[in-house]
Amino acid sequence: MSKREKLDELNKYWKENCICDLKKTATQAVFGNGNADSDIVFIGEAPGKNEDLKGIPFIGAAGKFLEEMLNGIGKKREDIYITNIVKYRPPDNRDPELKEKEDCNEWLINELKIISPKLIVFLGRHSMLRFFPNEKISNTHGKLLLKIIHELNKKQAFLPLYHPAAALYNGGMRETLIKDFNKIPKALEKISISS
Ligand code: URA
Repeated sequence: MSKREKLDELNKYWKENCICDLKKTATQAVFGNGNADSDIVFIGEAPGKNEDLKGIPFIGAAGKFLEEMLNGIGKKREDIYITNIVKYRPPDNRDPELKEKEDCNEWLINELKIISPKLIVFLGRHSMLRFFPNEKISNTHGKLLLKIIHELNKKQAFLPLYHPAAALYNGGMRETLIKDFNKIPKALEKISISS
C-alpha cells in the first residue's frame, strides 16, 4: 500500500472515530494535505473559517503567505505535506483546548508515522508544544532541534517557526519568519548528511 493509500485509510477511520467535541460545531474534518512522500511535514494549529468550509488546510491569508515562502525556497505546495494538530475548526477561531488537542493526537501521530518525514516544521507554538512542552517559540524559532520521539520510534528533526498568521501583519515577526523559513533547505541538507 502506498503512503497516500495508508493516509486515506487513516483519515477514513478517524473521521468516524475521533471523539473531539469540535466535531459538533465544525463543518467537516480538515485532513492533512499534499505530498505523502514529502521529506517535510508542516504542522499548524487548527483549521480556520476558509479551511473549515473547503476541508483543506492553510488556504486563507496565512496559507497564501506560506505558499509565497515556499516559492522563495524553490518549492511548491504540492511538494510538501501540511497538517494541523487539531483537525476541526474551534468556534470563532479560538485557541484549541488541551482536551481537543489530546483527542486529535493519535490521528496526528499516525499521520507522521506513515509519512516518516526527515524534517517536521512547526507553524507556531501550539504544534511545537506538542513535542517540546517546556520550550518557548521566542527561544526556539529558526533553530534545528533533534529529539528522540518514542511514539514515532525515531530521532526526529524539527524546525520551529512563528505562525504565518501571527507574522502576516507584524513587520518584525514577518521578517524573522521569512529568514527562519529560508533555513529549511540547509536544515534538510544537514539532516541528510548526518542520517
Ligand atoms: N492556521 C492553522 O494553523 N491551520 C490552518 O489550517 C489554517 C490557519
